Amino acid sequence: MDFTPQEHDQGRWTVNCLTVLMYHEILPRAAWPAGGPGPVRTAQGVTDVLPAPLYVWEEDFVAQIEFLVREGFAVVSPQSVVEAYGGGRSLPDKAVLLTFDDMWKGGMTTAYPVLKRWGLSALAFLVRGWIFDEPQKPVAGSPVCLARGEWEPLEDVFAFANHTDRLHTRGPQGPTLLTVEEEAFVADLRRCEEVTTLKGVFAYPFGAVGPAAEKGLAREGFSLAFTTEPGANDHTSNPLRMRRNLVPCGAGLDEFRTILAR
Ligand SMILES: [Zn+2]
Repeated sequence: MDFTPQEHDQGRWTVNCLTVLMYHEILPRAAWPAGGPGPVRTAQGVTDVLPAPLYVWEEDFVAQIEFLVREGFAVVSPQSVVEAYGGGRSLPDKAVLLTFDDMWKGGMTTAYPVLKRWGLSALAFLVRGWIFDEPQKPVAGSPVCLARGEWEPLEDVFAFANHTDRLHTRGPQGPTLLTVEEEAFVADLRRCEEVTTLKGVFAYPFGAVGPAAEKGLAREGFSLAFTTEPGANDHTSNPLRMRRNLVPCGAGLDEFRTILAR
């Protein structure tokens, strides 16, 4: 989208309202584990349990995407958001950015074909240290990370950005990102950045915005970083503290509408 002449005259760009939606694992409702979700499986060996609200059922996801299209929302590309916050272009009204964290297998098997059918693009956040060397067999009830060779064919839909190499962890004192030194953060950031397809874009693991991370991102010239703080973004937003809205598991279209109206 080009600037209007008026915007050129004033030397400004506009983002009236950008709503960023956040998804994690996606699976058919019938595949929901009776005993609740099991531990995640990652190459790093992290075995956190992905909290139930962070899942989305395929049926709901399809309905949500159809709702966006039907109601005239503009699902914008990750690249266009980078360009907007770089000051080079405006975003359309009712702009929505779709994001997927951690790249669980459902992103490939379930979200990808839905988005492709509608010709939509999305932003995915990779944890480099979680990527397996070989594709893993699915385990009922446990989200499994993708392997090398699995995520590259999805690049016509997903842009892949930085979610750290090995800092998506937490200890007794909370997320590692809150206690890491700036130098260690930057070294880790650079390792993940080697494999991303959209450069200079980050999501804080667990939404943990720590001083070392914020300083490191600014120092490395990152243009966008996404929190898990709900709300909409506009041209006044701090690009290294972008707001992002979880679509909780089981959200119907009424709740979805409310999230979009924040
Ligand atoms: Zn994550």
